[in-house]
Amino acid sequence: MPHTHHTKRALLALTISCLTGAFVASSANAGEGTLAFVGGRIVDGTGAAAIENGVIVSTDGRIVAVGPAASTPIPDGAQQIDVGGKTLIPGLINTHGHVGGVLGLESGHYNRGNVLRQLELYARYGITTVNSLGDDEFEGFEIRNEQNPVFINHSRLMVAGPVLAPATTAEAIRAVNGVADQSANFIKIRVDDNLGRSAKMAPEIVQAIADESEKRGVPLAVHIYNLVDAKSTLAAGADFIAHSVRDQAVDAEFIDGLKAADVCYTPTLTRELSTFVYESEPTFFSDPFFLKDADPAVLATLREPERQQRMRGNEGAQHYKNIALPNAMSNLKILSDAGVKIAMGTDSGPAARFQGYFEHLEMSMMVDAGMTPMQVLQSATSVAADCLGLNYLGTLEAGKWADIVVLDADPLADINNTKSVSQVWIAGNLVPTP
Ligand SMILES: [Zn+2]
Repeated sequence: MPHTHHTKRALLALTISCLTGAFVASSANAGEGTLAFVGGRIVDGTGAAAIENGVIVSTDGRIVAVGPAASTPIPDGAQQIDVGGKTLIPGLINTHGHVGGVLGLESGHYNRGNVLRQLELYARYGITTVNSLGDDEFEGFEIRNEQNPVFINHSRLMVAGPVLAPATTAEAIRAVNGVADQSANFIKIRVDDNLGRSAKMAPEIVQAIADESEKRGVPLAVHIYNLVDAKSTLAAGADFIAHSVRDQAVDAEFIDGLKAADVCYTPTLTRELSTFVYESEPTFFSDPFFLKDADPAVLATLREPERQQRMRGNEGAQHYKNIALPNAMSNLKILSDAGVKIAMGTDSGPAARFQGYFEHLEMSMMVDAGMTPMQVLQSATSVAADCLGLNYLGTLEAGKWADIVVLDADPLADINNTKSVSQVWIAGNLVPTP
């Protein structure tokens, strides 16, 4: 049966209107009325050339005007924010993260406080929206449901519920409906045998999940490892490829399939990195932008020589290092060049995949893989928003929420300049720094 990905994405946009704002509260007063960001370089996320000496005006959390200072009047009474010499980009969107489960390096800590703490962490790093692709519990749905699109100063959250792993087709149908009944933003499954260490989900179960999620209008995100599974899940009706193809080079059939179905592909290069990088001290352990929010106890554990030695001797880790990551990077270049929609996503959130920092590391690795800084910025803003059905986010254009990252240096000159975060604004609300 043909799958209507476009329709499903439109439905997704509807189900999350509370997230991105199909409503405007009559007494909305975010950002203390009207804000004007004056004098900065504006990279609007669409791929258009930067506007030098620009102005962005927002009212009640929504952008109302963007353009060169000479032709963009500042309304009377606007609160002016001098961003001369800075570069403004849209709030960054992580299309594959996880929240709430990990504390330090330990999982099993899912609770409301931990979810909120991690959404604040993402926000401080300029990641203003996170699509949590699995392991979401009641409190995550509650926080997603209650977040007001206007009065928000932590990362906007989308949730998928548990990663579904039904044993029968009947169970699959029940499981999809259980998650859909809670208005999950995505259904998430894994089709992977973990380098031969576990059983793979049977094709008829994948098909039952894809058909039922299609019926319920909830997009299906699939964790895959190899090309064969990526193709078969795409054919079954998957809407979102949540990791890189890592066993071999992608081919024309896969590229055509992704493009024909308008399905987005998420590299999660830092997920591969995290499997082996702690075999020695990572260079980012001396990056002040990482250290500002790092837990010294976690760093001490990751520095333990015995732990590093174990990772050096771990077959899986070395496979991800020597085979999976190089394949993921060369496939990213092929798919990007072919015009496939690449959505920046990291799979951050599990232990030692550092939320906030890893998104910047991911963007740097995407450039290492061969994408241009402009392509990577689009991937993390307008393309990511498109892939998640977030019509009111992802660019600095009139009508969008004023989710703005103010940088000290220009990321088009060097993608690592995304780390020069000076201020983060969400719907015109300044994200607090502790
Ligand atoms: Zn994940």
